[in-house]
Amino acid sequence: MYDFVVVGVGPPGARFARRAAEDGRDVLALESGSVGEPLACSGHVSTDVWAYTGSGAREELLQNEISGARFHVGGPSRNGSTAADGPNGDARDTYPFYKQGVVSNVIDRVGLDRYLAELAREAGADVRDGHTVTEIREHRDRVEVTAKGPDGTETVEAKLVVGCDGPRSRVREALSLPDPDEFLHGVLAFSAEDDDGDFVDVHLTAPRFFAWRIPRGEAGVEYGLAAPPGVQVNRHFEDLVDGYEIDVAHRCSGTIPIGPPDGVTSRRGFLIGDAAAQTKPFTGGGILYGMTCADHAARVVDPDRPRTLAAYERAWREDLEREIRLGSWLRRAYSLPEPIQRVGLRALSGEIGVHMDRPTSVFSKAHLKATFGNSRG
Ligand SMILES: Cc1cc2nc3c(=O)[nH]c(=O)nc-3n(C[C@H](O)[C@H](O)[C@H](O)COP(=O)(O)OP(=O)(O)OC[C@H]3O[C@@H](n4cnc5c(N)ncnc54)[C@H](O)[C@@H]3O)c2cc1C
Repeated sequence: MYDFVVVGVGPPGARFARRAAEDGRDVLALESGSVGEPLACSGHVSTDVWAYTGSGAREELLQNEISGARFHVGGPSRNGSTAADGPNGDARDTYPFYKQGVVSNVIDRVGLDRYLAELAREAGADVRDGHTVTEIREHRDRVEVTAKGPDGTETVEAKLVVGCDGPRSRVREALSLPDPDEFLHGVLAFSAEDDDGDFVDVHLTAPRFFAWRIPRGEAGVEYGLAAPPGVQVNRHFEDLVDGYEIDVAHRCSGTIPIGPPDGVTSRRGFLIGDAAAQTKPFTGGGILYGMTCADHAARVVDPDRPRTLAAYERAWREDLEREIRLGSWLRRAYSLPEPIQRVGLRALSGEIGVHMDRPTSVFSKAHLKATFGNSRG
């Protein structure tokens, strides 16, 4: 009997598998496809990501360094803004937010997943590609997990099952755990431009979310957009790339869950990452939150004492729930009338000291110091 069967090997699944294996647990991790594929993510993360990979990864995975974001109330054609606009926002309707140093990194997301999966293997976890979990039966004293792999269908037993299987989690459904509040639809595609600029562009044109342009160094430029159901995401995306007058290829799409459900633990199972909607509501980013929660789970969950699942539920919520709640408030600003958006952006833009994963850092000394020394336009 395994201590843990992990379903899904994205960043949270790989991170949990690694941490649990390092603690001497017997871990089986099953990935339905090939780890990291298909890509449906921008891989734009805070520099904290390197704390989860260890040395060596940065050199292999880093594509570009970012020091800020230019917000635009309109689309690229309407305000004439392009990547060439300076960080001081010389184009009309452009509001830059930046730090003096590097804020975030753009990374090879497929490479990140593979790297993390390899670390889990090295720690002793049995990580298997090409195994789709099709059924989960939760019993009083164990779980049975059935997976379809290249050699047929197999059922294994574990003390606990860990659902790291993304926004449309099968584990969540099998354990009768509630769904997240909302699912956004995200699309992205790439142009072949070389751009190592250090600003991302954010256009508040997609209803209740935004569109973006991310320079990825030699890996090209990414254009993307996300919005709630009912929005014509593809039409807005066409407007974005038409506005930039650019041809894009390699389109992909994915789902972003928003708003963690009331419970992400059952009697013998629990969820981490997108399955638990552990994402930032104002950006949709979930890589760092998922791995943070994986660490909480590995630290407090004892497979021989399933009651410790309550400690996981407490630990991750104590750490992130306030951040997520404040992130939801920030997101409301995307739906304000344009004149109010302009006034707010003008008042707040400039140098900031906010940590991109921690909206509560808006109340921090670092942020106040950065804004105090900053002449607001
Ligand atoms: C368009 C878009 C852009 C994004 N950009 C960013 C960004 O810039 N920065 C950021 O931090 N986040 C971003 N995100 C969010 C980020 O991609 C997710 O938060 C992150 O991938 C969550 O990882 P996960 O492992 O929980 O889920 P997933 O990445 O969805 O991984 C789940 C894994 O489980 C596997 N799986 C599913 N079902 C089964 C099954 N039955 N059996 C076995 N395996 C299964 C899947 O194949 C997959 O590999 C973006 C998301 C989208 C859609």
